[in-house]
Amino acid sequence: MNYGLEGRTALVCASSKGLGRACAEALAEEGVSLVLVARGPDALEGTAHDIRQRWGVQVTAVAADITEPQGRARALGAASGHALGTAGAFDIVVTNAGGPPAGDFRDWDTGVWQAALNANMLTPIELMRATIDGMSARGWGRIVNITSTAVKAPSPYLGLSNGARAGLTGFVAGLARQVAPTGVTINNLLPGTFATDRLAGNLVAGARQAGMEHEAYVDMRRQAIPARRFGDAAEFGAACAFLCSRQAAYITGQNLLIDGGAYPGTF
Ligand code: NAP
Repeated sequence: MNYGLEGRTALVCASSKGLGRACAEALAEEGVSLVLVARGPDALEGTAHDIRQRWGVQVTAVAADITEPQGRARALGAASGHALGTAGAFDIVVTNAGGPPAGDFRDWDTGVWQAALNANMLTPIELMRATIDGMSARGWGRIVNITSTAVKAPSPYLGLSNGARAGLTGFVAGLARQVAPTGVTINNLLPGTFATDRLAGNLVAGARQAGMEHEAYVDMRRQAIPARRFGDAAEFGAACAFLCSRQAAYITGQNLLIDGGAYPGTF
């Protein structure tokens, strides 16, 4: 299937590793030029180099914190490196950032909440605010927000994620309908459990908390998923590329779980 994305330009946030990188790779495979953003320059440059080598697309690496206004300004300004001019020139925006910490809500003051809301709700909204009118004016655009399974199945210890991402989800449900007449789609991808660096860290902490041997704990987590395995980031990236495709033009305002069947509901 030809996704019709050749020559498009995408901003992929938090993309030196994990799910963001997988989205960038899947888009590169479709011939999309990329602006990649992450804070650590070494991993970011390495990823940008790998993608250029493998798919021959134009890749601009911006070492910046996407949750800060200056970082966003630098990332959005990098569209000019693609000879398209301004932030409004992005055809595709994949929003992503690190997830908030786990913990007990009794320990979280408003500063902690504001940081989570900033990273996982307001940052994606600011990125959409900067890019959506350009997409609408050109009659084509794709926004994919990386959220979490926590939106549908909140985890008791991830209250910051549950709250901030649910807020984003509610906002997007309205905005997606508002911009649909202009050819812009907005969808959210909800990862279940994917084998990324973040998961590796969470598993170490989880085993410690459960008082279990690491391997036994990891196996228990795997067995709790109907597919009996963790997700491969490339599977996530493939779903992102599809949502950006011309074939997905009639899919908007949706929340797509990618979790090996872990969410037990009918809908
Ligand atoms: P990961 O493997 O740890 O990768 C995170 C990426 O984001 C890295 O490239 C990191 O680079 C970058 N990043 C983090 N904070 C950033 C910031 N403020 N500005 C710019 N770049 C930033 O994580 P992941 O597993 O791909 O997770 C991605 C998102 O999905 C997170 O929000 C996570 O909570 C959510 N999620 C993941 C899973 C899962 O199973 N993996 C499940 C549910 C939800 P630098 O550190 O160098 O900036």
